[in-house]
Amino acid sequence: MRGLMMEDQLLVSDLIEHAALNHGFQEIVSRTVEGPIHRYTYADALKRMKKLANGLERMGVKLGDRLATFAWNGYRHFELYYGISGSGAVCHTINPRLFADQIVYIVNHANDRFVFLDLTFVPLLESLTDQLPNVEGYIILTDAAHVPETSLPNAMCYEDLIAPESETFAWPVFDENTASSMCYTSGTTGNPKGVVYSHRSTLLHTFFQCGGESFEMSSKAVVLPAVPMFHANAWGLPYAVCMVGAKLVFPGAAYDGASVWELLDSEKVTFAAGVPTIWMMLLEYVRQSGKRFDHLTQTGIGGSAVPLAMVEAFEDEFNVQVFHAWGMTETSPVGTTGAFNCKVHEMPLERRRTYQIKQGRSVFGVKLKIVGDAGETLPRDGETFGELAVKGPWIVGSYHDNDEANKSQFTRDGWFLTGDIATLDEFGYMTIVDRAKDVIKSGGEWISSINLENAAVGHPAVVEAAVIGIAHPKWDERPLLVVVKSEGAEVSEADVLGFLEGKIAKWWMPDAVEFVEELPHTATGKIAKLKLREIFKDYVLPTTAASGG
Ligand code: AMP
Repeated sequence: MRGLMMEDQLLVSDLIEHAALNHGFQEIVSRTVEGPIHRYTYADALKRMKKLANGLERMGVKLGDRLATFAWNGYRHFELYYGISGSGAVCHTINPRLFADQIVYIVNHANDRFVFLDLTFVPLLESLTDQLPNVEGYIILTDAAHVPETSLPNAMCYEDLIAPESETFAWPVFDENTASSMCYTSGTTGNPKGVVYSHRSTLLHTFFQCGGESFEMSSKAVVLPAVPMFHANAWGLPYAVCMVGAKLVFPGAAYDGASVWELLDSEKVTFAAGVPTIWMMLLEYVRQSGKRFDHLTQTGIGGSAVPLAMVEAFEDEFNVQVFHAWGMTETSPVGTTGAFNCKVHEMPLERRRTYQIKQGRSVFGVKLKIVGDAGETLPRDGETFGELAVKGPWIVGSYHDNDEANKSQFTRDGWFLTGDIATLDEFGYMTIVDRAKDVIKSGGEWISSINLENAAVGHPAVVEAAVIGIAHPKWDERPLLVVVKSEGAEVSEADVLGFLEGKIAKWWMPDAVEFVEELPHTATGKIAKLKLREIFKDYVLPTTAASGG
């Protein structure tokens, strides 16, 4: 017997229709690439999205066509999210910070028909366009007054494209499993891999974000995504705000501490989400300038592990709650969240914090397990670690046109292998020990680079830390700690190592500490371990000589 409920399709266009109808007054504020702050409402946004949809139709865009975006977080990018997906085309956000050859690969592999780009990226696309034979035209996200001279073929100005169009458009209805958006993982090895989200997966992920034990989302919230819209759909926030009718604040291209703080303050932002690197810059700024957070009540932090020192800074110094989450481009992206269960909630602060720096616990909709080398399921005892495998309706089922990864990263019974090495405990809390390729193999045992880094940034003079394995004749690999110290701080190798004593297992103690001006970061703001390993590829540990190697 079939259920007799309506088979209403879950479509992205319903989110913006809902927001405009029920929260049409709510503001969307953007720091623009051109400079000034732009303000309008959900009702205004919907009208412009419909103009865009009509424009796309005139351009001959069809169901399933891929349209690329190279854009910062702003209202026009938001219009593309809905105008493109709502029309049945695929909004393909591209990370402009990737290497040029990766960008070329991505645009060609996805077969993008048109490229929408912010002014910032005109020179970048001009330098690549010869290698992008399938792109039919470039739409610059600005108005006629700001459009530059450009050698881009078939260049158009976004405002000119939508200006003549009607504000009336009936969103097409199609199967909810149709592709809505697309994002390539920034893969540190090999070519980037394409993840294709569906309308259904996007809506289910949004329901969870707004309803489950997740971020503080409501129509009273003021939300600032400090995670770029080209990084896993800004963690789903541009969809979640529409479901609840929250005020939305876009930081544009300015992610430095001062610019982010200014918006948090002037727009009375209550919730902001980003990677630890962004928060590190913000914390440095507020400390040095003596600023406070008068409105911010919660930060969502993910993408890399949150160090305890960052939790303490936000919560104890600034009274802002830290909500740690884990996810991947492949998981839409939120896979676990740091919401306390009732047992953890009752624990004394210090113990509770040990849970807060774990990567979070299972949410309904994402099944987690850890598996050993032979694919066997390992115990959830909080100690045994193995590769994290996940499954669920908003988890990637296969990569776009990539036989190799589709063979190696999925189990026969349909689990996605994340490449993260993790433990799971009795409450379902997951702890990432390391990325499989970053873990340090010493004497047949594993050392977690993440744990060492988190311990090191607890030192008051350490701003950022990274640990990599250096070849060692006796132990195979030993850890090298690379540190950025705060401006003007006097701190030695012995100070840092002394600080780590008692905080980590004795045999995990780094064999050396190197101080650097800055650490290399990936296109999504994480520490670029691959680059760091390259920089230190000829490094010889002082202990090598001692071990007779
Ligand atoms: P991306 O798809 O670029 O967002 O990268 C996903 C990867 O980032 C995951 O597989 C993890 O290795 C890492 N990651 C994401 N969130 C966290 C977190 N909270 N703690 C540690 N690593 C994380």
